[in-house]
Amino acid sequence: MKFGTYLNGQYSEAANYYDLINPYNDKVIAEVADGTVKEMERAINAAYKAFQTMKKMPAVDRAASLFKAAELLNEKKEEFAKLITAEAGKPITASRAEVDRSVQTLQFSGEEAKKIGGEYIPMDAAVGGAGRDAYTIFEPIGVIGAITPFNFPLNLVVHKVGPAIASGNSIVVKPAEKTPLTALKLAELFTKAGLPDGALNVVPGDGATLVKVLLEDERVQKISFTGSPAVGKEIKNKAGLKRMTLELGSNSALYVDASVSDKLAEVVDKSVAGAFAYNGQVCIHTQRIYVHEKIADEFLKQFVEKTKQLTFGDPLEESTIVTGMINKKSQQRVLEWVKEAVEGGADLLTGGEKQENGILPTVLTNVKETDKVACEEVFGPVVIINRVESSEEALELMNDSQYGLNAGVFTNNLKQSMLFAHELEVGQVLINDVPTLRFDHMPYGGVKSSGYGHEGVKYAIREMTRMKMISLNYS
Ligand code: NAD
Repeated sequence: MKFGTYLNGQYSEAANYYDLINPYNDKVIAEVADGTVKEMERAINAAYKAFQTMKKMPAVDRAASLFKAAELLNEKKEEFAKLITAEAGKPITASRAEVDRSVQTLQFSGEEAKKIGGEYIPMDAAVGGAGRDAYTIFEPIGVIGAITPFNFPLNLVVHKVGPAIASGNSIVVKPAEKTPLTALKLAELFTKAGLPDGALNVVPGDGATLVKVLLEDERVQKISFTGSPAVGKEIKNKAGLKRMTLELGSNSALYVDASVSDKLAEVVDKSVAGAFAYNGQVCIHTQRIYVHEKIADEFLKQFVEKTKQLTFGDPLEESTIVTGMINKKSQQRVLEWVKEAVEGGADLLTGGEKQENGILPTVLTNVKETDKVACEEVFGPVVIINRVESSEEALELMNDSQYGLNAGVFTNNLKQSMLFAHELEVGQVLINDVPTLRFDHMPYGGVKSSGYGHEGVKYAIREMTRMKMISLNYS
């Protein structure tokens, strides 16, 4: 099968194509457009034209197309899940969960489309202001440029497309080279749902080449980027006055206090799931765990036992929890980082070795905070579990990071929870949950090298609209 660029509500023949490879079995899935500068320009033209329609489209109609897209996606759940598994190598049960979430993200977008409203401004509060009624409205801004990563090829695209459509903008998506098909199929589905042609365009291909066009075109009013900190920073430096949302990486941390010893099994289950979800290739995967020394031995024992029970296998098998990595380069990098930690004195409790094109779930303890597995984003199936003497020590170590996306704390101590809630330098604090937690309507964004701006439908809409004040003088 051959897939061109998706422009103006249909596929368009591309100048160049590349082979899209299934990362688990190395088989060619399809030939996909390797977008050119000209094709990206055509996509922006289409989006700009569609914006003239979108900005006049009533909220009820924008909502209807989002609800319809949600319905169609739900009907095609299995097809989309298999597609995600084929191109991202994600275990099929996790791919189904991603489709379910995406359906909900579209529904949230439909609901929010109907709630975009401003406020009444009491002009008579100012001396000389009487005799006027004033209010604010939120207007769409134009063409949104969306750049997305490989790890959630559907839901992270929907997190940009849903709010853009809800607020009356048009959008051009540059999906990850490794996972463009899901985004193309989503665009097809929106056309079926009645979205005006050109309101959603998808141009797969090389990031540097295509994003340059988005950055240089003045009709593109905003760049919404999700991906690695290095690329995010590079894009930001070239963005000029364009609005930006940067959803970047993390090395998310969790503190487990001794006060939760009575529910340790539950805490361990959640922590293991958070550490190894999609082989740790999740921006908020639980990478660093700090456990109070009073319960550390028992926590480690249970954690390692549970980790050893995780089934490694073909991502299409229902029982598979962990599987191959996205590519050999990532596999090699993660293995080297584990080796560095072990050579530096860390104890390897399980894993740390290759399995097919992946890595067995790896647990390290007594890791130096300066080792890459601790201070960089590992983005693989590796967790470090270090002991702490107090919650204060945990807080300090958690904050000693260049990143700040999500953080989790398990504690039964109210005062301690509030201290973590206020003192953690992150975008989201999850008390009595692991950091690997996101619901799609909640505000979600990072600080430090994890980026800035927010997603979560309502909050993304704020960043895709501009406030205008209107005053009526009736005096
Ligand atoms: P990546 O940065 O390599 O790629 C992301 C996108 O940027 C892709 O579409 C790619 O084509 C494009 N790109 C690559 N080089 C570019 C360049 N020089 N100029 C312009 N665009 C370029 O990221 P990835 O490997 O696909 O995804 C993993 C990263 O994404 C991790 O760091 C992870 O933490 C992060 N992530 C963050 C969130 C979040 O919500 N904060 C969610 C998912 C993933």
